[in-house]
This record gives sequence, structure tokens and C-alpha cells, in this order.
Amino acid sequence: MVAVGEFHEEKDVWNGVPLHYLVEKGWSKYAKKIFNHTPEMLGFFSDKLQYPYPWDKYGQVVVRDFVSGAMENTGAVVFGDFVQNTERELIDNDNDYIVAHEMMHHWFGDLVTCENWSNLTLNEGFADYAEYLWFEHKYGKDRAEYHRMNEMNGYYSQVFGGGAHPLIHHYYEDKEQMFDAHSYNKGGLVLHMLRQYLGDEAFFASLHKYLTDNAGTAVEVDELRMAFEDTVGEDLHWFFDQWFLGTGHPHLDVTYTYNDENKVLLVEVDQTKTPPGFHPLFRMPVDIALYFQDGSVEYHPVVISEKKQRILIENLKAAPVTYVFDGKNVLLALINENKTPEQYKAQFKHSSRFMDKMIAFTSTNDGNADLIQSLGRKVLSFQIYGYQCYCR
Ligand SMILES: [Zn+2]
Repeated sequence: MVAVGEFHEEKDVWNGVPLHYLVEKGWSKYAKKIFNHTPEMLGFFSDKLQYPYPWDKYGQVVVRDFVSGAMENTGAVVFGDFVQNTERELIDNDNDYIVAHEMMHHWFGDLVTCENWSNLTLNEGFADYAEYLWFEHKYGKDRAEYHRMNEMNGYYSQVFGGGAHPLIHHYYEDKEQMFDAHSYNKGGLVLHMLRQYLGDEAFFASLHKYLTDNAGTAVEVDELRMAFEDTVGEDLHWFFDQWFLGTGHPHLDVTYTYNDENKVLLVEVDQTKTPPGFHPLFRMPVDIALYFQDGSVEYHPVVISEKKQRILIENLKAAPVTYVFDGKNVLLALINENKTPEQYKAQFKHSSRFMDKMIAFTSTNDGNADLIQSLGRKVLSFQIYGYQCYCR
């Protein structure tokens, strides 16, 4: 990569690696803020992957009229000039997501690269998920979950506006079609599910093995699957077949029937409304959350593997005030639950999870005024990506 222009160069260093921030003249005093947290991020990703940043320098350059948002040239990332903002502007609109995205490509894309465009998600899915990892680490789970919600909305918009295709996609007409909400958004969302299924230790150890075994080579998705399988000692074809090679995501109807006399909850899960052309049957490990009046929550891990499945949860200590099928907010699935407005309000009140609260608000039709009043909140209403939200 060669960038030619009259730049202002700001220098920094991380772990002996020289860092260069090149911005237009006039932006010099904001250069470090524009590429905020660069050294901290290099440390964070190096630690997570147990694989130190593998190149001898890290440059970030701003240019005008760039062909896309940014490009991860090894050791010298190019950014469009939209990243140049003042310190005040950056408070509302920081560049963390794109700095993290391009940086992660230095492991996934530059160190290990996809063998062909069909496997592009091996680059972009990881770069996309780097945004989630950074937000979770730096700003907390809610910020990361807000990001995940937007990623899901982007994926669903593409699916219902333009159609779905397998994540590993061999039948595109033009390579540009691969740079879509599948390779990016769905790629990141699928990695998130895999991480939750395996746990952090196994997930990141597998990524370390994938990077170590394949450094300097071009790979396809099987190399990723085998790195996971060799690390955890479990066959993962079921996961990779449905999420990487299969199409779409499940549509679930979930029905709860509680028997107070026997303290038994029947949960019926129906995935038969999954649209034709999508993967016909999804296998989903999931934790069903039961919330109780005293504010406590119980998680019941189950594996959904049938088109219509009945789950009995017995010996409950009391009648739950509400239930959340995807209790830990992991799945890429459209889930329709038979809950009352009161149960959605209880969900908002008792769950500490961002996505549960968002779904609770969008699933009741009465404006939730009583709920908000009971919480003693000063209400401010605004729109986030089509969702009606309230907060203090
Ligand atoms: Zn990318």
C-alpha cells in the first residue's frame, strides 16, 4: 500500500511496535483521539488470542474519496475521511468499532486469509465480532449487546429484503456480493453462538490453535472447524453444517403452560415455521430462564433438536412471573413467545439483560407507562433503529 499526500503524522508505541497515525493537516491535535485506544486494543486482542500482534509496525492513514469504509492492508490501514472528527464530535460518534475491526484483520485476513471469496466470512466474521469483543471489554455487556442488536437487524434486513444464502457462499455472481450482511453480520453472530456454547476458555484457545496452525496460509471453513474440534475434542459438524453451510436461521414458536398444582412448566418449541429454503432443522443448545417474584432467576439448559419439541421443567419452587426462552440472549433466531403484557413487563423489571429489556418494550402495546412509573423513572422517549425506547 502506498498513500501519497500532505499528512500530519502522530507517533505512538505499543510493546515495542511503532504506531503511526496519519491525518490531514489541520487535524493534528485530534489524531490520537481519532484512532483512540489503538495501543490498548493491540494489547487486548493480543491477550485474547494469546498471539501477539504479528507485524513489525501499525499504521493508520486517512484519505479522501476512499472506495469503502476502510481497508486492512497489513501494517498500514487506510480509512475514509469520515473518521476525522473533533474531540467533541467523537464523544457521540467514536471510531472504536472500525479501528477494532481493521485491527482484528491483522490476525484474521492478513496472518491467516480465506482461500477464496466464498469463505470471506473467515476474514469479515472475525473482524465484525472484534467490535463486539471490544465493546464488551471496554464499555460493558450492554454496549456490546446494543451492537449485536444492530448487527441482527442488518442481517434480517438483508434476508427479508434481498434473500438468504449460506454463509460459505459458492454461487455469487460478483465478488462484491460477498461483502454483505452475511459475511459480516451473520459471521459475527455465529461466532458469538459458538463462543457461548463452548465457553471463553475453549473458544479463544481454539482461535489460538487456528492462527498458530494456519499462519501464513490460505484456509477454508474446514480448517476453522478442525481447530475447534482438535481443541475441544468434540465433533462440531452439526454446528458448522447448519450455521456456515446451511441457509438462514430458525423461526421458533415457543408456548409455555404452567401447572401450579404440580409446579411443572411445559415448554413447547416449534420450528416448523422456519421459511422454506432455510436449513430444515436447527440444533440449538439454549438456556431457558425462569424469573420469580423475589427477583431470582433460574436457567435450564436444554438442547433443541426436533421440529416440535416438548420440555418439562419440574419441581419449581414457585410460579415464575415470566420466562425467556433464549435466557442468555445468544441465538440468531426469530422467537415468538406466548407471553402476556404482564409477563413482558416482569421481563423488563427482573431481567438485567439489554436484549430482554428491548424485547419486553417492543412486545407490549400500551406504552409501558405504569411500568416506567413504578420504576420511578423520568421518561424520555426516542427511537433506536425502529425500536421505541424509554430511558432516564
Ligand atoms: Zn473487514
